[in-house]
Amino acid sequence: MHIVLPRLPEGVNLRPVPRLSVVVPVFNEEAVLAETHRRLVAACRDVVADSFEIVYVDDGSRDRTWSMLQQISAQDPRVVAVALSRNFGHQLALSAGLELCRGERILMIDADLQDPPELLGEMMARIDAGADLVYGQRTERLGETAFKRGTAAAFYRVLDRLTDVDIPQDTGDFRLVTRPVLDALRQLPESHRFVRGLFAWLGFRQVALPYVRQERFAGETKYPLKRMLRLAIDAITGFSTVPLRAALWLSIAGFLLAMVVGAYAVGSWLLHDTVRGWASIVGVTALFASAQLLCLGILGEYIGRMFMQAKDRPLAIVREVVVAAPADPGP
Ligand code: UDP
Ligand code: MG
Repeated sequence: MHIVLPRLPEGVNLRPVPRLSVVVPVFNEEAVLAETHRRLVAACRDVVADSFEIVYVDDGSRDRTWSMLQQISAQDPRVVAVALSRNFGHQLALSAGLELCRGERILMIDADLQDPPELLGEMMARIDAGADLVYGQRTERLGETAFKRGTAAAFYRVLDRLTDVDIPQDTGDFRLVTRPVLDALRQLPESHRFVRGLFAWLGFRQVALPYVRQERFAGETKYPLKRMLRLAIDAITGFSTVPLRAALWLSIAGFLLAMVVGAYAVGSWLLHDTVRGWASIVGVTALFASAQLLCLGILGEYIGRMFMQAKDRPLAIVREVVVAAPADPGP
């Protein structure tokens, strides 16, 4: 993925590679930031002692978020504070953080403490046990409106029907991944990023960690309906060409309807109770309408293929290569 970076401060890349990076997109979160930082640091210390960095990505906040981040980073060398040039949206802020972080394992987490940082230990344990990626799966969502819960549940189910990629249900961007998984993700060049779908597409050994999504610690959601809709559209169009195929199905329905209407028109004509020319007009219109839909459907199929090709995603990803060590030739 292509992210434009300024000249980084001297020594940023000379620091030792930490065992863990935490990437946190932040937008107008002055109300939660101090508490979030406290809990993140505590959770990280418990698991990896001092070998971690926290990358906060300020997504063009208009409140005191950025000055607070500057302050936090001045006091704590483990903090990398990143400011985007304007508000790019959650998914792109997250992507920018993923490009800049350096750790061997990477935790993605929202700033509002809806996803408990204390689950880090358990996630690390699953990776130690052989997983490449652990994603948090919400069993319950506290403190969210019935509307949000309902639309989210419906969305994940529709998405599942429309796509070939198995995008896990009820899963957000709370996940821990290993460096090889992140490096694979960074090879995906597309600009409309539905990050959780991209991670699902990558494959590798993924395991779910069920958890209860908490209430927001403070402040209010930065995902109003308009943004949720945009995310949903990015998800569907990013992973599915089924909508383009709609014309094909409509043409089949249209053709069947044309047969029925045509039979009715011919019948009426035979019984002589029609205006002259009516039957032929009705028959021809119905038939041509379905023929046009058919052509649109065919175009849709080709456009869909061009669209998928234009994404320029890699064709496949190799997880590992095993070769036997050459036999010891002996003395
Ligand atoms: N966020 C962001 N840019 C945006 C909107 C949100 O970086 O344009 C961040 C926000 O600060 C939070 C995370 O993305 O850390 C998730 O947002 P939020 O908690 O508001 O979404 P919700 O949990 O309500 O879906
Ligand atoms: Mg939230």
